Amino acid sequence: MTDRVGFIGLGAIGTPMARHVAGAFQTVVWNRTTAKAAAFARDHKATAAASPGELVAACDVVITCLPTSKEVGSVIATAGDAWRRGQLLMDATSGDPAGSRANAATLAKRGVAFVDAPVSGGVAGAERGKLTVMLGGAEADVERARRYVAPYAGKVEHVGPVGAGHALKAINNALLALNIVAAGEGLAALVKLGVPAKRAVDVINASSGRSNVTENLIPERVLTGAWLRTFSAALLDKDLGVALAVLEDAGVSSELYPAVKRFYAEARKVLDPGADHVEVIRRIETATGVEIR
Ligand code: NDP
Repeated sequence: MTDRVGFIGLGAIGTPMARHVAGAFQTVVWNRTTAKAAAFARDHKATAAASPGELVAACDVVITCLPTSKEVGSVIATAGDAWRRGQLLMDATSGDPAGSRANAATLAKRGVAFVDAPVSGGVAGAERGKLTVMLGGAEADVERARRYVAPYAGKVEHVGPVGAGHALKAINNALLALNIVAAGEGLAALVKLGVPAKRAVDVINASSGRSNVTENLIPERVLTGAWLRTFSAALLDKDLGVALAVLEDAGVSSELYPAVKRFYAEARKVLDPGADHVEVIRRIETATGVEIR
């Protein structure tokens, strides 16, 4: 087996991940907007494939990083006969468990293994090669996958069968969304009561209510007014939908998760399409008439 790795999906997080892969293996990339793949190949000593099929034919293992499991399914179908026995697809998309099981079944018919391999740590974590990778699949496939996700990973865990990685990722991201909304609403109240937002965040971060949201996202994006765009509200809204399906599948009823899903769906109606996931706090600012600064 050679170590020729295919990477499909050079988006906000896929690009820095692919950069690490290209530093470790012979890499072939494909992206829907072909100019991005050509530029990547030029800058990172990789090869740009003209189609998913050309990439699959040239590689032993393939990593996908696309919006949802649906796009992964389309790319698998487009590559068609190029798939061959013994290959492995690692899906870094924040996908959905049912979609992943369906994609795994499609590939299994051709003797191709599938591992769901979603990531957490954001674009900054991807740049540093320190992402957390949640692997779902059969033991032997997961062991094989570790070598290829290692270039961009800080922590790699095998969490269960195919779909388990995507289920865990969806719950993780739902917790992120819950924290964003809860912190935004709470801080808006404190500012209205005369507590400066920065002081409130400093105190929370030395107290039991702290989270990634209060420690990193709010100081970097909200208190500064920088409103960085690294992970879209649309993608987090998608993850909330997956989390609801995970809860339903497990027969666990919830008050909080559906409420936050509704909040994101409503916020997206007033935010512009490219808005970042943290920008839902702008909606809280508008509704309460305060700036969290
Ligand atoms: P982006 O929107 O930045 O990029 C999406 C990528 O998918 C692009 O390469 C895009 O191609 C491609 N794409 C979109 N639609 C199709 C299609 N129909 N067929 C083929 N390719 C398509 O997303 P991100 O990189 O931010 O996210 C990718 C995945 O990673 C998502 O599942 C997301 O939830 C997850 N994720 C993102 C994180 C982040 O911080 N951004 C963090 C952790 C996980 P094109 O260039 O042509 O638009």
